[in-house]
Amino acid sequence: MTAHVEQLEFQAEARQLLDLMVHSVYSNKDSFLRELISNASDALDKLRLEALRNKDLDVDTSDLHIELEVDNAARTLTVRDNGIGMTRDEVVDLIGTLAKSGTGELRQQLREAQKAAASEELIGQFGIGFYSTFMVADKVELLTRKAGESGATRWVSSGEATYTIESVDDAPHGTSVTMHLKPVDAEDELHDYASEAKLRELVKKYSDFIAWPIRMQVERRTPAAEEGGEESVTVETQTLNSMKALWAKSKDEVSEDEYKEFYKHIAHAWDDPLEVIAMKAEGTFEYQALLFIPSHAPFDMFTRDAKIGVQLYVKRVFVMGDCDQLMPTYLRFIKGVVDAQDMSLNVSREILQQDRQLTAIRRRLTKKVLSTVKSIQSERPEDYRTFWAQFGTVLKEGLMSDFENQDALLRISSFASTNSDDELTTLTEYVERMKDGQEQIFYATGQSREQLLKSPHLEAFKAKGYEVLLLTDAVDEIWVGSVAEFDGKPLQSVAKGEVDLDSEEEKAQHAAEREEQEKDFADLFTWLKETLSDHVKDVRLSTRLTESPACLITDTYGMTPALARIYKASGQAVPVSKRILELNPKHSLVTALQQAHKSGSDAERLAETAELLYGTALLAEGDVPDDPAKFAAQLAERLARTV
Ligand code: ADP
Ligand code: MG
Repeated sequence: MTAHVEQLEFQAEARQLLDLMVHSVYSNKDSFLRELISNASDALDKLRLEALRNKDLDVDTSDLHIELEVDNAARTLTVRDNGIGMTRDEVVDLIGTLAKSGTGELRQQLREAQKAAASEELIGQFGIGFYSTFMVADKVELLTRKAGESGATRWVSSGEATYTIESVDDAPHGTSVTMHLKPVDAEDELHDYASEAKLRELVKKYSDFIAWPIRMQVERRTPAAEEGGEESVTVETQTLNSMKALWAKSKDEVSEDEYKEFYKHIAHAWDDPLEVIAMKAEGTFEYQALLFIPSHAPFDMFTRDAKIGVQLYVKRVFVMGDCDQLMPTYLRFIKGVVDAQDMSLNVSREILQQDRQLTAIRRRLTKKVLSTVKSIQSERPEDYRTFWAQFGTVLKEGLMSDFENQDALLRISSFASTNSDDELTTLTEYVERMKDGQEQIFYATGQSREQLLKSPHLEAFKAKGYEVLLLTDAVDEIWVGSVAEFDGKPLQSVAKGEVDLDSEEEKAQHAAEREEQEKDFADLFTWLKETLSDHVKDVRLSTRLTESPACLITDTYGMTPALARIYKASGQAVPVSKRILELNPKHSLVTALQQAHKSGSDAERLAETAELLYGTALLAEGDVPDDPAKFAAQLAERLARTV
């Protein structure tokens, strides 16, 4: 094969990220080594698994390991593994581009992150792996051969716009990454990555738990045996890491720092976890689990390719990442490892689907995570707030998918409410504040707090001092349909069904007046119902309006327009259910309309007024009239006469 060196350009986002790395002021440059070791460890895991599954793969897996090699004369550091390796296409795809999901968001954030401090944050959020080598090297060479294939690939870049790639004939299977280290200035001896002591320290600190040996050749000096004799220097290979699986140890044997480093390794995170959960189950289903609650939501949590963050090991051997049998999807942000003792290494995802043992493990883990959040909530309010801000929206998905834990989920949820402008409330706190005689938990769903607070639906609740939960996440619209009650108190939408906030006493007082109104408005309502029959299925007197003329109400078991829209967006056809128009008998528009109707005004004009009334009810809840242009034209025409 003739060597053909090809020059390719980095994809735009990758270039920006590289630029960030090259000029990085990131204080934690040390972490490049963890990133490389982590990649190497993944590659070894993958090869072992592949060898188990594919008997035809003819590779020697008897001594899988990672090797560090320093060339002092050339000032290079090489990290080598004999793992799965990459094909040429994989090198281009995985190293030449930012293949990760959420690239759009990253691009936007990169654009905004002109300042050094902000880019450090970014490094933390996106965990950019391989490119971190450019923090410490001005040139990086990667030589790799995919196990089972014959040709190898060399990739070289100095971190600018381009890289070169060429096919080479002979290379061992696996990957080696050689960094031409940047010069160290005098005061920066701490960051000399060609120093044996430094490398030893870094491996111990960041990668001690890696399940594969990390080896390095070191010089051993033996003092001269006799006076005047020569000191002897021998070279020997040492394993720098202890390789102990942290999850197999009990919590008091492991330091906080060790947990943090392990978390960074498996979660590809650069920040610390919010909480560590270590579990051990003995008996029929023996397993160990080490789980982490992150302190930041991953940027792809709501994308289609968001993955479950738990890895499955069987007897210390990595079997699969993103194991969706181990966590419900609403806990997809949880990271960690589960090591099961009695399971075949050779399992496929399909087999796992039906594995009763895994199902049992998942139930236990789910309960454990929820109870851990519960104790964070009662013991560390600040951390709980962080947790909820990051993961609340995704956790609420569980309210409609995990009925077994619905109550536990409700107890650790918090919501905005009319009780406070900035503090969220739990349902328990809400119930404690409920007024005498109040039997339901009131809530409103909508786009934003501001909009809800001004909604006509809330008027009577505000006037009478009832607290209302303000639910503004899209998911809220859906879960409220699956939750019947909390602590025996039914949940009641302010925009659904009949609402009567009057006390018995008030009811008695208002009864006569009410009867009178019903009679007075009967004709108008019959006419309105017919006139607006395309839009509404009934017209009635309102008990919830104090200021607005009208509002629209969904039947107790009907589907709200917002929910219908969500279904429609997800491709499900849903029947449009008409709502009920409620009118405020004290509003001058309503009384004027009644007068005009009684005195037999122009029918066409009255019908138009009815349409306008309906349109304003939609507008008041943040919706748009069915025919906005027509609505605007009619309104303009009316206004023209009144100015
Ligand atoms: P991440 O590890 O988060 O995916 P990296 O930038 O560290 O991101 O690596 C990108 C990809 O390149 C990896 O996912 C892997 O597929 C591939 N890769 C990196 N290093 C190696 C290696 N030593 N052996 C095999 N593949 C590797
Ligand atoms: Mg990586």
